[in-house]
Amino acid sequence: IEAPAAPLPVLGDGVTVPLADGGEVEYAALDYAASAPALRRVWDDVAAYLPYYGSVHRGAGHLSQLSTDLFEASRAEVARFLGCRPDDQVVFTRSTTDSLNLLAAALPSGTEVFVFETEHHAALLPWRSRSDCRVCYLPAPRSPREAVRVLTEALTVRRGDGPALVCVTGASNVTGELWPVRELAAAAHAAGARLVLDAAQLAPHHPVDVTALGADWVAFSGHKLYAPFGAGVLAGRADWLRAAPPYLAGGGASRTVTRDAAGRVDVGWHETVARHEAGSPNVVGAYAIAAACRALREAGHGALAARERLLVDRVLTGLAAIPGARVLSLFGAGAERVGVISFVVDGHDSSRLATALSDRYGIGVRDGLFCAHPLVRLLLDGAPDAPAECGTPGDGQGERPLSAIRVSFGAGTPDEHVERFLTALA
Ligand code: PMP
Repeated sequence: IEAPAAPLPVLGDGVTVPLADGGEVEYAALDYAASAPALRRVWDDVAAYLPYYGSVHRGAGHLSQLSTDLFEASRAEVARFLGCRPDDQVVFTRSTTDSLNLLAAALPSGTEVFVFETEHHAALLPWRSRSDCRVCYLPAPRSPREAVRVLTEALTVRRGDGPALVCVTGASNVTGELWPVRELAAAAHAAGARLVLDAAQLAPHHPVDVTALGADWVAFSGHKLYAPFGAGVLAGRADWLRAAPPYLAGGGASRTVTRDAAGRVDVGWHETVARHEAGSPNVVGAYAIAAACRALREAGHGALAARERLLVDRVLTGLAAIPGARVLSLFGAGAERVGVISFVVDGHDSSRLATALSDRYGIGVRDGLFCAHPLVRLLLDGAPDAPAECGTPGDGQGERPLSAIRVSFGAGTPDEHVERFLTALA
């Protein structure tokens, strides 16, 4: 067990916001799961690079060469951060949503996709765009062990031995609970299926080693990993990506474009990672992601996780002391979780509570259904067979809450923000 790290400096440190009573207070960003503040290290690295910015893969000038080198070095840093296999491809995208849509577009025809209905919409929906593929929605498991059993059973009735893909989250953006990725990947592989890991919420909190986990692909977003510059990553097996049509048609993805005497246009597409990176790449975003990977590696994931565990325990203990507060959980007491905690308070509207936390105390949280409607509705309304602690919240008069509140934090969160949140809520 490592000693907890000190909070890492972030750009939001010391930013003040106005309060409804006319006062001012330092902003407490407790919405890391939506977008985390940039690490100061990331900003410093980006700021040092910006004067040397140039087009990537598109110029003979010195700064274009430099930017191209930094873009490719960023790819190598991300591969290292993710523990990629030597022949994996690291594609820079816009976000996790973009990455998973890219993979959906690259599925071989006839792929059967298995996805838990509890997933974030970014992981739940992209596969529907493929009318030549079948999507199998798996029911919500009530423990990590049940998740493995449900998947294993579903895979035994797959239609044939054609391609199959399992899509699973590493850490839930609603409950923060960790999913048994290694065991799910083993179950997928035993049935001849592959697995893509949605690491949008996992990567900012835990090391993600695709080789050790056995994940075939992993997707994450820079803006949740302390690098808010509009870039994301899809990394993993090259074969399906190489065989798929380019995600976007355009310059960069095309190696040759010719016109024959009859006027037909013929295109030779790259088979490298460039195939899915058409258009001028977001080199600043890629460089920022690499800077964040470096900063997290150097700070030590173990020490950061140790500190985060203290904050999680503090929030859970604090919420337990607030009358009517109920924490949403799919896996129940004792589940391992990252710093993402959703809850409701009986008799209080979540949206009004979130607004009050902002207006009166300068605390930024999120309320709503968190782009995971089936999961949040299940946890708010309960299901016929759901354990009592997971459902039936309300105001004591049989009403169901319309939404929940989510408090989320990470490497830059000082204790004071968490204490202010608990005091304000109480
Ligand atoms: N998956 C999970 C688990 C998420 O939390 C999110 C963002 N809330 C996404 C995917 C989508 O990420 P982005 O909005 O950056 O595409």
